[in-house]
Amino acid sequence: MVDVFDRIGADDYEQVVFCHDRRSRLRAIVAVHSTRLGPALGGTRFYPYTSEADGLADVLRLARGMTYKAAAAGLDLGGGKAVIFGDPARDRTEALMRAYARHVDALGGRYITAEDVGTTQADMDLLRRETRYVTGTSPELGGSGDPSEATAYGVLWAMKAVAARLWGDTSLARRHVALAGLGKVGGALLAHLGEERARVTVADVAPAAVERAIRAAGLPGPDVEVVEAEKIHAVDCDLYSPCAMGGSLNALTIPELRCAAVVGSANNQLVDDDAVALLADAGVLYAPDFVVNAGGLINIAEELAPGGYHPEAARRAVRRIFDTVTSLLDAADHAGISTAEAADRLAEQRITAISAVHQLRTAG
Ligand code: NAD
Repeated sequence: MVDVFDRIGADDYEQVVFCHDRRSRLRAIVAVHSTRLGPALGGTRFYPYTSEADGLADVLRLARGMTYKAAAAGLDLGGGKAVIFGDPARDRTEALMRAYARHVDALGGRYITAEDVGTTQADMDLLRRETRYVTGTSPELGGSGDPSEATAYGVLWAMKAVAARLWGDTSLARRHVALAGLGKVGGALLAHLGEERARVTVADVAPAAVERAIRAAGLPGPDVEVVEAEKIHAVDCDLYSPCAMGGSLNALTIPELRCAAVVGSANNQLVDDDAVALLADAGVLYAPDFVVNAGGLINIAEELAPGGYHPEAARRAVRRIFDTVTSLLDAADHAGISTAEAADRLAEQRITAISAVHQLRTAG
């Protein structure tokens, strides 16, 4: 592994911690990108990276993304993330998870962890035995559980904000949504869209996920049509909602889009900066992913509220994604910039403004 300081210096990371425990075979990296707005909150990814460099690149990219997500969502949180090297199905042991939790604890609250790819609520409950700097634990331990439903609820309110902008009405009734990915978020979003009486076309690479989600959405459920996963982005619709993997907006897919706007939960939807210009050429409004999918983070942040976690307060907070999307669409219009750039600016300006507020010093 080379050039670590160059890489963490380029994007101004505060701290990167390499965690090791010989007996349990723990190898993990915690990246704290920024604590300027508050402790760095972000999940722990347990993944069989093919190299240490890949794991480092992933944790750095994800930690920085959390800084922007928390800042744009108006939270008093910074950005961080952690990766554990290994295959969770094979390498997860109680000892390894507890060894990892002690490293998190040693950071004294600069980093607060949560679930991510490869970790579960049960893992968070286990970490809780070693550290209080963990969220997403089960409700019996004061946690808010799986954040996916909150994420889906936030996507719904982002869609309403976009609908209000495009069609002058927050209602999604009879609007046609093309939904890619029916996992934890996509499945919950499908149920919401059914309640809204939207028309939905769905796709997932796993047929079982399609069946499960349609069944769970229940009757008098949505008017659902199923298409192949490779075709979902090209469906003629009002809103395209990528809720599967990242990178779905690229030079091949964007010219084929037949939607008015993209509003989905997937992280890193734009494959690169060129995608922004392609979306503008295609006349498609893009609701930036890290603003749209912040519901899970907002929900989890409620666990840190002085009175503890309250589901209704959390839902209220998630609904504010409507206001955030509305104001960033305004800001993009006003400044004549893309919505992606407006979202970055919103986050950066808030970090600069809030961290410039003077400390008022007192004796003692
Ligand atoms: P998940 O693993 O539960 O579901 C993903 C689904 O997408 C699966 O059913 C999978 O079969 C399907 N899929 C994979 N590749 C596909 C493709 N090419 N076309 C169509 N379907 C495909 O994941 P999730 O928790 O629902 O998260 C979905 C996305 O939202 C991810 O990008 C995730 O990073 C992001 N996200 C999730 C949360 C959360 O709270 N879960 C929060 C923020 C962002």
